[in-house]
Amino acid sequence: MKCPIETRENAELLLAYCTPKLDAESTAILERHMEICPACREFSSGQRAVWEALDAWEAAPVMLDFDRRLYRRIDREVSWWHLLMRPLRPVLVRQGLPIAAAACLVVMAGVLLERPAGAPPAAQPQSAQVEAFEPDQVEHALDAMHMLGEFSYRVRGDAADSKM
Ligand SMILES: [Zn+2]
Repeated sequence: MKCPIETRENAELLLAYCTPKLDAESTAILERHMEICPACREFSSGQRAVWEALDAWEAAPVMLDFDRRLYRRIDREVSWWHLLMRPLRPVLVRQGLPIAAAACLVVMAGVLLERPAGAPPAAQPQSAQVEAFEPDQVEHALDAMHMLGEFSYRVRGDAADSKM
């Protein structure tokens, strides 16, 4: 056969080597070629190493009490989150609401409380007052965004794990 690496012909055979997709006849032809071709030999041994690494890899199991531990850590490390979530916790535990959904709920509640529906926009405070509280608001918003990012990352991770 012509060398798959040099000619690009039969490249799919070389890629399929080491997988159950390749039939015995093609495997024999390829192996005969590899006896005389160091490039293909090297390629297939690298490919075999990748397959073996993938076979050996196992995802870390998700802890059964992940949610409980997360809530406990949030309680310990984020006091404003603790204050926000405390009234919701019995609901969350009963409904089994995902944490990301709960976070969205809290943010939405904050937005609604800030701007009640139908209410005319409040008059802008004087500039001295704006300067007094604006950095604080920005800091809280950044904290909230950071936490939401972490939650969605965790939730995505969980979803990926549960598919396996
Ligand atoms: Zn070759």
